[in-house]
Amino acid sequence: MKPVIGITPSPIVETTASGTHERYAIAASYVNAIIAAGGIPLILPPQDENADALLALVDGLLFSGGADIDPALYGDSDVHPTTYDVHPLRDRFELELINKAIEQDYPTFCICRGIQILNVARGGTLLQHVPDQFETELPHRQQDAGFKSHEYSHVVTANPDSTLARAYRSTEIKVNSYHHQAVKDLAPGLAVSGHAEDGLVESVELPDRTFVLGVQWHPEMMFREHPEHLEPFKQLVEAAISRKLTNATAD
Ligand code: MN
Repeated sequence: MKPVIGITPSPIVETTASGTHERYAIAASYVNAIIAAGGIPLILPPQDENADALLALVDGLLFSGGADIDPALYGDSDVHPTTYDVHPLRDRFELELINKAIEQDYPTFCICRGIQILNVARGGTLLQHVPDQFETELPHRQQDAGFKSHEYSHVVTANPDSTLARAYRSTEIKVNSYHHQAVKDLAPGLAVSGHAEDGLVESVELPDRTFVLGVQWHPEMMFREHPEHLEPFKQLVEAAISRKLTNATAD
């Protein structure tokens, strides 16, 4: 039995000869990771009012990476000059969808912007620009340091008693890094499950839910070369199968 995993896409604005167009797009790597893990990916474009109906179509969720969240949504009245491409509809949609998903205990995996959405949805805040607001020597934007997307640029130390450590079967995880923002104040109910060597939060989870995991890196870019990065997708799919089976029995 394959579970359906809803994936949130990114709005992309493109100007061509015929004018300016907005597309909702998702990197194929997210889709391929869900398929490789045994799930059926379903892209969920941002929209108002339909979160409940969309949740009824899926067994689990993947919140993808993308542009920055509106700082006003976590109570920051300053907008850092590097905060980019804020998209009010995507913010609103993802915040509503993730809160409803958590209420109903949907298995939920949150990548990069996704971990930030998870923290903001539950009442946490973000560092708007790590290089200005956090003392570090690590290449958290590894493209600036010449690393390829599947190459690791720093290590994350996982809490041994965490969903993260169980997924990777390790407490030392070699990760890539493509973020200029990060978790600042942790939301109530969330637990930090992984740190970079500099102390930056790289993974959070909700211990009172079956599977709600956020990671600041991009495992979907790494799983082909480094199979351990498929493991969190497999855990998501397994939890989604369990939820589907439980609901089937209840019907
Ligand atoms: Mn990082």
